[in-house]
Amino acid sequence: MKHDRLIVVHFGELWLRGKNRNEYVKTLLRNIREELSSLSPMIERNYDRISITPRKESDIPKIKQQLSKIFGISNYKVSYKTKATIASISSLSEKLMKENSKEISSLRIEAHRSYKEHKFKSVDVVKALLKKAEKLGMKTNPRDYDTEMSISVTKDYAFISMERTKALKGLPVGTSGKGVVLLSGGIDSPVAAWYAMKRGIVPVYVHVHPFAKNSEALASKIPRIISILSEYHPHYKAYFVPAGLFQIKAAKTGRYELILLKAFMLGLAARIAELEDAKVIYTGESLGQVASQTPHNLLAAEMDVRIPVLRPLIGMDKEEIISVAKRIGTYEESIKEYSDVCSINARNPPTRMNAQLMDRLKLDIGLDRIIESSLAKARKVEE
Ligand code: ATP
Ligand code: MG
Repeated sequence: MKHDRLIVVHFGELWLRGKNRNEYVKTLLRNIREELSSLSPMIERNYDRISITPRKESDIPKIKQQLSKIFGISNYKVSYKTKATIASISSLSEKLMKENSKEISSLRIEAHRSYKEHKFKSVDVVKALLKKAEKLGMKTNPRDYDTEMSISVTKDYAFISMERTKALKGLPVGTSGKGVVLLSGGIDSPVAAWYAMKRGIVPVYVHVHPFAKNSEALASKIPRIISILSEYHPHYKAYFVPAGLFQIKAAKTGRYELILLKAFMLGLAARIAELEDAKVIYTGESLGQVASQTPHNLLAAEMDVRIPVLRPLIGMDKEEIISVAKRIGTYEESIKEYSDVCSINARNPPTRMNAQLMDRLKLDIGLDRIIESSLAKARKVEE
C-alpha cells in the first residue's frame, strides 16, 4: 500500500476561541496558500490542523522553508497518512522504525486522538507500537529520547511522523490590521517591524530620507531591507518621505533639532495612519539606548499623537536586538553604510525635554505644515 506523505501544520495561540479563532485560521490558510502558490500543493484544513500535500516529493524542502517564515504556525511535521485502525497504524509505524533505525538511539512514542469515537484509545496505540519497537530491539524511553514518533488519529485517518519542526508562532499577518512602522536604515527598526508582523500587523513603512529626490531613496538599501522583511509576509505599503523641508525649517533650533525630528516622524506616522486606517505606530526605540530615548524625550516627541506608539524593543539590550536581527536576516543590510537623517549631529541634545518648550518649538517651525507639505512630496510604494 502506498502511503501519502504530507506536511501537517499546527497552529499556535490555542487559547483563541470562537469567532477569533476562525478568523485566525482563515487568515493563516490564506497566507499559507499565497506563499506556496508557485508549488500549488493541495492545502486543506481538518479539525485542528492544516495539511499540505505536495505535488511531488522534491517540493517538501521548499515547502518547509516557506513554512518556517509564516507567522501563526506553532510547528509542522512531515507525516505519513494511513487508515485510522490499529493494524494499519502498526504496520506503517513498523516500516518507519525500520527505515530510520540507524538514526534512532532512543525512541519516545506519543499518540493522541482528536476524534474520540474509535474503539481503541491513544494508550492502546502506544502499547502496540512499543511492542513493535521492542521486537526490533529498539530502546524506548518517554523522558530520555532523541526521536519522537507521534501518531495523531482523526476520524478517518491517522498521521504518523518522526520529526517536528518548531516554527515562528505569533499571529497570522493580517489578523491585527495595519500598523505604521517608522523604518530607518539602522539595526533596530527592522527588528521592530518583524515583531509587529509577528503579532499580526500588516506593515505600512514610513522612511524619512535625506535625498533630494525620492528615486534616490528607492535605489538605496531601504527597499532591500523591506524586501528581506517581506519574506515574512509579501504585502506592505511604504512611504518614502524627503526630510528636506523639515531640515530647512528646523536647522535654526540647534540642540533641539533631533527631538523635533522625532516629533516630525511621529507626526508623519500619525497622519499616514489616518490615511491608511492603521491603528498603531511602531518604532525601534529601546529605553535609554541613546540620549534621545529617555522617558522625557519619548514623551515629548509623541505628545500630539493620539494612537498607541508601540516599541517592541523597549526592554531589550543592543546585543539581544542584534541577535534577532541576525536570525531574521536584516542585520547584514542594516550595518551597511547609509546616511540616515538621524545622524544629525545635534550638539548637547537635551535628555529631559520640557513639554512646554516642545510645544513652542513645534509652533515656531510650523511642524504641522511641514508634515503636510512633506507628505505631499512623498512616494508611495505598494506590494
Ligand atoms: P534604528 O537602529 O532603528 O535606526 P536607533 O537606535 O538608531 O534606531 P534612533 O536613531 O533614535 O535610534 O531612531 C529611533 C527610531 O526612530 C527608529 O527605531 C525608527 O523607528 C525611527 N527612525 C529613525 N530614523 C528614521 C528614519 N530616517 N525614517 C523613519 N523612521 C526613523
Ligand atoms: Mg538609527
